[in-house]
Amino acid sequence: MLSKRPKGLLIVISAPSGTGKTTLTRMLLEEFPHMEFSVSFTTRPPRPGEVNGKDYWFVSKEEFLKRIEEGDFLEWAEVYGNLYGTSKSQVLKALNEGKDVLLDIDPQGALQVKENFPDAVLIFILPPSLKELERRLRKRGTDSEEVIEKRLKIAREEIRRAPLYDYIVVNDSLEVAYARLKSIITAEKFRSSRFLENAPFYIQDEELLRLLTGGEDGKEDTLRANS
Ligand code: ADP
Ligand code: 5GP
Repeated sequence: MLSKRPKGLLIVISAPSGTGKTTLTRMLLEEFPHMEFSVSFTTRPPRPGEVNGKDYWFVSKEEFLKRIEEGDFLEWAEVYGNLYGTSKSQVLKALNEGKDVLLDIDPQGALQVKENFPDAVLIFILPPSLKELERRLRKRGTDSEEVIEKRLKIAREEIRRAPLYDYIVVNDSLEVAYARLKSIITAEKFRSSRFLENAPFYIQDEELLRLLTGGEDGKEDTLRANS
């Protein structure tokens, strides 16, 4: 029996619109029931098929500004002329319940999260080329020509921020990109600092735990004694 759930991982994913971020995050959420998508607040009107509370919390500008004032957001930013923000209480609640939380936010927001939450894992998804990005935006069929041009221009700005992220994944083949994403998440869970914080979840042997966490066990430290 596992003694408790390890504290959740805060995973931030950014990518230029059309790269495949929604597709990849849906795959993660389907495979990992303990992962939670953080539903952002936005002042953007819903697109056909979008559901309030599932895709976004759609709110008025007045309500959004009130929430900023009340300190409700972990981060917020203006993207494509609309306001977007991540609910602080929703994220902290899920992490404390041991859920991994996935944020799909833009680079301005991602860097704010890293500042307030250095433990967060920032992943930037790149398209294989700008030409392919344009093709995917057209294939998705949700934007007008004017909006596509605007998104491509902003994509160049966003890509300049990719070096500030912890990881960069190219979404060429969807299966390969997904495998890369999963291996990053797995590796982060076993980073020694995070592993030690959650050691009782993985290890039930009391002596082993004491050795790992530097607890007293009455034995001489032979590595040090022999050096
Ligand atoms: P984003 O959320 O980054 O804006 P989407 O997930 O909506 O992007 O993907 C944009 C379009 O590209 C969709 O039509 C999607 O099916 C397609 N797509 C996603 N990943 C790939 C891939 N690796 N190869 C080809 N097409 C892809
Ligand atoms: P869309 O309107 O196409 O759903 O999203 C536009 C952009 O806003 C995407 O880059 C998306 O990642 C970003 N975004 C969505 N939610 C948030 C949020 O809560 N905060 C920030 N900073 N960006 C967000």
